[in-house]
Amino acid sequence: MKPCCNGMQSMLARSGSDGFSVRLKDDGGDPFFVIEFRSYPIEKQDYYRDCFKKNSEMPRLITAGEEPIRFCPWCGHDLRVEMAEIQLGRKGLFWVLKKYFGFPVSE
Ligand SMILES: [Zn+2]
Repeated sequence: MKPCCNGMQSMLARSGSDGFSVRLKDDGGDPFFVIEFRSYPIEKQDYYRDCFKKNSEMPRLITAGEEPIRFCPWCGHDLRVEMAEIQLGRKGLFWVLKKYFGFPVSE
């Protein structure tokens, strides 16, 4: 996937690291982009999750948050184009046109 602009490129490069980043969530369902904040890198997620479970006195801190995005926050590019490209190989053209661009096509 070629990033739409320098802002998106740098945020995708930070995907899963601590701080702000953009990540493509693609775990078998419909892929989508999220802008997220993490207090720690994603590879340490299980470690911290266990710490919070084992220490009931520990304050319930919000350590990560994410929000789905449909448009690039820096240049306004429609991210459905990238999602459609991913799904094109999986589900085919008619499915993609109907799902992402609202074309009333029959399959
Ligand atoms: Zn962009």
